Amino acid sequence: MVDARQVTGSEVVRAFLEVRHVELESRLRGFAAAEIASRPEPQDDDAARREAREFVGLLGAGGWLEPIGAQDLRACCLIRECLASVSPLADAVFALQALSATPLLISASGPGTPAWEWLTRLLAGEAIGAFAMTEPEAGSDVAALRTRARQEGDAWMLNGRKSLISNAGIADVYTVFASTDPEAGTRGISCFLVPADTPGLRFTGAQVMSEPHPLGEIAFEECAVPADHLIGVPGQGFKLGMMTLDRLRATVAAAACGMAARALDEALAHAIGREQFGRRLAEFQLIQEKIGRMAIDLAAARLLTYRAAWARDEGADRVTLEASMAKAFATEAAQRIVDEAVQILGGRGVLAEHPVDRLYRAVRALRIYEGTTEMQHLIIARQLLGPQRGDGG
Ligand SMILES: Cc1cc2nc3c(=O)[nH]c(=O)nc-3n(C[C@H](O)[C@H](O)[C@H](O)COP(=O)(O)OP(=O)(O)OC[C@H]3O[C@@H](n4cnc5c(N)ncnc54)[C@H](O)[C@@H]3O)c2cc1C
Repeated sequence: MVDARQVTGSEVVRAFLEVRHVELESRLRGFAAAEIASRPEPQDDDAARREAREFVGLLGAGGWLEPIGAQDLRACCLIRECLASVSPLADAVFALQALSATPLLISASGPGTPAWEWLTRLLAGEAIGAFAMTEPEAGSDVAALRTRARQEGDAWMLNGRKSLISNAGIADVYTVFASTDPEAGTRGISCFLVPADTPGLRFTGAQVMSEPHPLGEIAFEECAVPADHLIGVPGQGFKLGMMTLDRLRATVAAAACGMAARALDEALAHAIGREQFGRRLAEFQLIQEKIGRMAIDLAAARLLTYRAAWARDEGADRVTLEASMAKAFATEAAQRIVDEAVQILGGRGVLAEHPVDRLYRAVRALRIYEGTTEMQHLIIARQLLGPQRGDGG
């Protein structure tokens, strides 16, 4: 019999990994088992927010946020995969530190700048970050964002609203995208670092999900941001945002793989242990067929994920095509795998305390955030068709 690790462990993607990654994976599994897996799922939004704070501290103290700073994308993928398999909330916490820190890393602000100070704190787990791009009227269509920043003396005055922002209300600092030149479209979008205690920035309310995840809305009302809190140069915010998503989409795919791997493990254990009609579920071919498809989906998802991360780590400036393929396929595959796991578990699979029920609630959002599956398909087609796509864009 083949160990399930041959599908879920680092062997499948070994060709894309260095020795340091394999070592990291085994330390990581120990950390996750000892410090994360035993913590119960928070029962309400307030508890989820407290737990997210705890996780940032734990990840920082353990040095698990360092690969973000080192821009070791394969290590980040391994970390998200492992965290997502035991706690989707811990995974989200890691993801948000990466999302808020990456624009600062790309713009390479030096020591002594606010960006450097915040980056240091984010990577040590001493500050919580958030990435504020989406607005009520601007989701997939980022160029439609209405938050404005106008220059006034030494400051930028921000006005507008952001919606569906992870860590809204608990973040210490927000990486914010706002238009500094509305006439210039995406070339008029700039990126700012806004500490949570800046006067004029307000947390306007939580948006509560069925899976514990701190999400909410923030508003800017004549919020004065010092000039040295602009990240990069005016008008480069959209590019900075897209480069950040380009790099981190592979890690969303990795989180999907982690959830799917856990679901497959749970399904296998149940199929082997449960008897109906005088036989173990594992003996029924209809169950075997499901397990076969789940394993293929997972192995393919992991290969696409680590190919994208490897390409970036090898020095590719943009991995748009690889990252979009990985994100689209892995998140869709994970949804199918988790759904099949619930089916194999039967009634137990929909009980709130069962791990696959939590995975079922958690996996859904991955097909939406950091660009929906539909957007990934469009990005891939654009890469392949170039100007021949005929939409003038
Ligand atoms: C759990 C969670 C966490 C999030 N965290 C953050 C965060 O931290 N920061 C942040 O900025 N945002 C965050 N978001 C927002 C997320 O990025 C958006 O939800 C996402 O980009 C989609 O935007 P939308 O929800 O407005 O959907 P819409 O853009 O309105 O899309 C709705 C549907 O229409 C489809 N669609 C749209 N345009 C087209 C088209 N041209 N062709 C075909 N189909 C199309 C979409 O694929 C989708 O199926 C988060 C979302 C979730 C669910």
